[in-house]
Amino acid sequence: MPLFAQKLKSSVPLTSVNPALDRMVSTTHAGQAHWAGSGPPGEWCRNCAHWALPGRSNNADSFSPRPCTKYKALTGDTKQKLIPHDAKACRHFKSRYASLVKS
Ligand code: SF4
Repeated sequence: MPLFAQKLKSSVPLTSVNPALDRMVSTTHAGQAHWAGSGPPGEWCRNCAHWALPGRSNNADSFSPRPCTKYKALTGDTKQKLIPHDAKACRHFKSRYASLVKS
């Protein structure tokens, strides 16, 4: 577990100095390419082109957890960390539907 994601254990209630950061830490899943919620508002990993099983169809009809290919590209981590479909999108979000929209 990354250091920043570890929870402090204290018998004394601590005041958060950065509630927004605390919120992002608590909602980010291991294996996400960046903080959950740092992407477009209202978007989830299931709508991202990077939420994929390499070598398989990337249809959005299955909500089974999948790895983030952007995370793997950025970190080189080969362990498969599965991201749930309803994880909030990060700043590397790339719409899987972008190629379907004509300008
Ligand atoms: S929004 Fe996309 S790039 Fe970001 S963690 Fe989710 S699947 Fe990965």
